[in-house]
Parts: sequence; C-alpha cells; structure tokens
Amino acid sequence: MYDIKSQIAEEFISDEEIRDTMEYAKQNSTNKELVKSILQKARECKGLTHREAAILLECDDKEIINEIYEIAREIKHRFYGNRIVMFAPLYLSNYCVNGCVYCPYHLKNKTIRRKKLSQEEIRQEVIALQDMGHKRLALEAGEHPVENPIEYILESIKTIYSIKHKNGAIRRVNVNIAATTVENYQKLRDAGIGTYILFQETYNKKNYEALHPTGPKSDYAYHTEAMDRAMQGGIDDVGIGVLFGLETYRYDFVGLLMHAEHLEATYGVGPHTISVPRLCMADDIDTSDFKNAVPDDIFFRIVAIIRIAVPYTGMIISTRESEKSRARLLELGISQISGGSRTSVGGYVEPEPESENSAQFDIADHRTLDQVVGWLLDLDHIPSFCTACYREGRTGDRFMSLLKSGQIANCCLPNALITLKEYINDYASPKVKVKAEAMIKRLLTTVPNEKARATAAKYLDAIDKGERDFRF
Ligand code: SAM
Repeated sequence: MYDIKSQIAEEFISDEEIRDTMEYAKQNSTNKELVKSILQKARECKGLTHREAAILLECDDKEIINEIYEIAREIKHRFYGNRIVMFAPLYLSNYCVNGCVYCPYHLKNKTIRRKKLSQEEIRQEVIALQDMGHKRLALEAGEHPVENPIEYILESIKTIYSIKHKNGAIRRVNVNIAATTVENYQKLRDAGIGTYILFQETYNKKNYEALHPTGPKSDYAYHTEAMDRAMQGGIDDVGIGVLFGLETYRYDFVGLLMHAEHLEATYGVGPHTISVPRLCMADDIDTSDFKNAVPDDIFFRIVAIIRIAVPYTGMIISTRESEKSRARLLELGISQISGGSRTSVGGYVEPEPESENSAQFDIADHRTLDQVVGWLLDLDHIPSFCTACYREGRTGDRFMSLLKSGQIANCCLPNALITLKEYINDYASPKVKVKAEAMIKRLLTTVPNEKARATAAKYLDAIDKGERDFRF
C-alpha cells in the first residue's frame, strides 16, 4: 500500500504506485488540457507531483518539450541565478565487500588495484585539491567494515578540515558512503559534514536485488530507508539520486520523485540535492551489458522535469558527462558540477597509469578546474566556491526558506562573487582571471540591496589585500 509518510521502503516507494503512475502517464500524455495545467503549475514554481511529472516525461510533442526546457531554465534562474557551485570528489578507499554488478569496486574484481589512503596520503590529496582551488569535496569510499569503518571516515573528515595550505581550505565535506545506522549518521553530523549523499541506484526492488546479489548493500529496505535514518540522526541535508541505465528510466524517474516527496512530507524538508549519474564504462564493467542506457535527448528531458518538479533542490552533474552534454544540462537546471575530478584513489597527487587502474569509472570530462571555470565564464555562468549556508547554519528547512524568500540575490550572489574572487586571486590562470574580474565588476552592480552591495565591494577589496573567507 502506498503511504508517503511511512518509514517502510516498500510503502513510500510503492511498486504498485510506480506502475500505476507509468500507466496513467501513458494514457494522459496527449490530454492537452491536463498537460497545459501541469505546465502552468510548474511555471508558478509550485513543484509537481510524481504523477504530473510522469505525464510530462511521456510527452513527445516538440512544442511541449521546448516549453518544459524554457520553464526549467526560468526556475533555475529564479532560485539559483546563473551560479554554478563547484566541487570535486575525493576517493578515500576502493575496498568493498559488496557485489554490485555495475561497479568495478565489487568484491570479486581481481583486476582493479585496491587502495586505501592513509591520513598522510589524504593530506597530500587535499593539498593538491586546495592548490587547484577547491573548497568543497564529496568523499567517496567503498563499503568495507574492516578497511573503511566509520572511524576511518570520521578521522579522514577531521584531517581534511584541519588542512590549511597557503590560502586553501576545504570548507564543506559532503559524504557519499554506504547506508549506515542512525548512530553513525549522528557521528557524521557531529563531524560537521555538509550533505550526506547516497544514490539509490534503482528503486525497482527486484532489479535492485539482482544488481546487488551479495554484501550488505543487497538489503533493499536498509538502503532505501537510509535517508530516513540520516534525518533521524540529525543530518538535515541529504542528497539522493539514481544511477540511470540500470533500470528503465521511467521507473526510476518516478521512484526518485516519490523519494523526494516522502522526505518532504515526513521531515518537512526535501532532498538538498538530486544527482543524475549515468552508467559509465569502468575497469571490468562494460555498459553494453546493460540494456537500459538512457539516450541524451531523454536524459535532458529527465533533468529539466526534475528541475521543475522539485524547484528548490540543488542538482548535480559529475564528470561522467562530457563537456558538450554538461553545457546543455547547465541550461536545464543543474546547479552544481565537479571539475578537475579524478575517480582513482590517490589520483590528485599521482595520476595513475592505465595498468594500475583503481578508478571507479571512466570520466568523460578531463579538463582542469581552471579550464572548467573559464568555460563557465564564457557561457555566462558564475563559478561559485561558496559554502556559506551550511557554515552559517542555514541547512535543511532554513536553507529552503532562504531560497524561497527571494533573498538569494542579496546573499548568494555576493557570496559567489567573493569566493570567485578568492579563486582567481589564488589559483586562476591570467586568462581566466581577466574574464572573472569583468564578470565580478559587472554583477556586483546587480546586487539589489545597497548595503549588501557595499559590503560585498568592501570584501572584494579586502581579498585583494590578502584577507580571505568572507561570507554573507
Ligand atoms: N559505496 C557507497 C555506496 O554504496 O553508496 C559509495 C558510493 S560509490 C563510491 C558512488 C556511486 O558511484 C555509486 O553510488 C554508484 O551510483 C556510482 N557508480 C558505481 N559504478 C558506476 C559506473 N560504472 N558508472 C557510473 N557510476 C557508477
């Protein structure tokens, strides 16, 4: 039985409700009046239910698709302006006891080189990341109770926050580790993590069990209920996602939105972020073995509809996507991207030779962070290294209310400009610096509140004089 507020996985992600929704969407996708009313609701930034969103996903009419793209662009601009938050993944360890059939970390893989960073190696990786200009990381690790216990993750977080190399600092550590207990989530919260991220991979229980035949991750309910435990453990900001390509996109699209609705209905705050990874080639993984690959045009539609269905959520795209598709996706609602990423353990200090592969997947965007920043500036996006909200305690519903209040232009815009200024003074190439200076100068004048504008100008001057770490 579908129950949005239930704490039981199979009730808040009801297989029956997903299938009914898919059927309902097929039957109603040509109902012009209904589609029009859904688009109107979307335009008003009211979000969409999973049923309404599923109807839009079924629409093949070019005009409607273009209208969806246009609304997605508008909503993105209304809530996030043209800021794009930058981050990088940091792989701590690829030891893993699970048997996930799509992931090269799986226990039986004998060709991948197993590696776990010591605290000293983490220090070196973080220094390399700080020297690129990163301020925000996503920690990644395989699931291994002996090699990667929670104590190792906690110690690593402490190490990362403690490193201040030159003007560098990691100011927000997001964590993407396996589903765990309420007690461990409390420990992660106490360690000062930003977002707890966990991808569902697929919401289809039967397929989930086939894709995760062995190891603790094979427990569908434990995995699906992880965000509930994280919330109960006091983590306000959680990030959800599915790995597109494992299950039919229609099923997981509906499941993903139902998960977001469940969190909002139960805890009063929806997902802080939604990630949309697509399956990639990897060490012993061949994507042609999976029959649900999502083509680009459908993928763009999915991203745009998630943006309008959950208007307040941050949307993340990684270097799994190429420069070309990232450019398109930025227009359709993405608000965070990684840059200069390495998916191998220890890869920032020492890029691996191919014979020693420890990477999780093959990336499609190999550009440096500086190149990505320059490219964003060319596309008129503001690369932002801001971490202010979480450091000011604006997490969970407090973050959402800032977004809804419309104060972002007086708060997030100056924060983006200030952190971009830090980046260019400390790390950017001369070419990128010139472009960014011009953008900062131009956009400072658009901060609506006079006092906020004056304060931002003062901070920008202070950064030129060597001071760092200002925020609104
Ligand atoms: N072990 C943790 C877990 O079970 O969630 C951490 C996750 S793993 C380091 C990060 C994510 O990478 C996974 O959740 C999965 O969605 C994704 N991933 C695994 N194999 C992949 C592949 N071949 N291509 C693209 N993404 C992949």
